[in-house]
Amino acid sequence: MKILTVQTIAIFLLTFASIRGMAQHRDHHTPSRVLTGDSLVSGGYRLIFASNDAGLDPSTRQHLIDVFFTVYPQEVARFNKNSLTKVTFFVDTAYKGVAETGNGVARFNPLWLKKYPQDVDVVTHEVMHVVQDYKNYNPGWLTEGIADYVRYVYGVNNKGGGWTLPDLKPGQSYQNAYRVTARFLLWIEKNKYNKIVDDMDKAMRDGTYSPELWKKLTGKTVDELWGEYTKDPALELTYK
Ligand SMILES: [Zn+2]
Repeated sequence: MKILTVQTIAIFLLTFASIRGMAQHRDHHTPSRVLTGDSLVSGGYRLIFASNDAGLDPSTRQHLIDVFFTVYPQEVARFNKNSLTKVTFFVDTAYKGVAETGNGVARFNPLWLKKYPQDVDVVTHEVMHVVQDYKNYNPGWLTEGIADYVRYVYGVNNKGGGWTLPDLKPGQSYQNAYRVTARFLLWIEKNKYNKIVDDMDKAMRDGTYSPELWKKLTGKTVDELWGEYTKDPALELTYK
């Protein structure tokens, strides 16, 4: 992709709850900040890349951009063709989490990127939140589990980033979210119903999700599925 323009853009920052990196807090705007961002266009998608970190490594920056243009179109094509075509990245020195996303803006912590420059599939996870566009974040474990499932499937540098789905351990629950839930979803996909993530994602976006949906789709409740999973959790996993 090529840089078309260097734009001055207004970034509307949201007050995020730390784990709820989604849009339910959209009413709580902090005052907008004006930043200079590069506008990059490729394949019908536009990425505004803004940073207030003068020390951001140019190769890390490029890597994040490349990951966006590689994975976002695939995520859109599979899950939600009505996704935003314009996404904003903001590398923000004031932000202390790892990354969070709401209203088409993904915010990244430059210290994290400096410490873990290969962890670029944090982008793959975050832009899935743009694709999800759930009006209701809950259940959050499913929202985050789907985003990490997507990171596993579409990630381009999970191996380099040292990111893996951990083996099942005693005491875990599908409600642990993130990678624990992602692994469970992969297991259901392989052993029970291969459209589980597609259908759950759609139901979450349509506002039709309910706990009964697991049984409707697989013949088992989510707790029954988890029980079966814990008895035989083997999965062959490969990482790009
Ligand atoms: Zn997330």
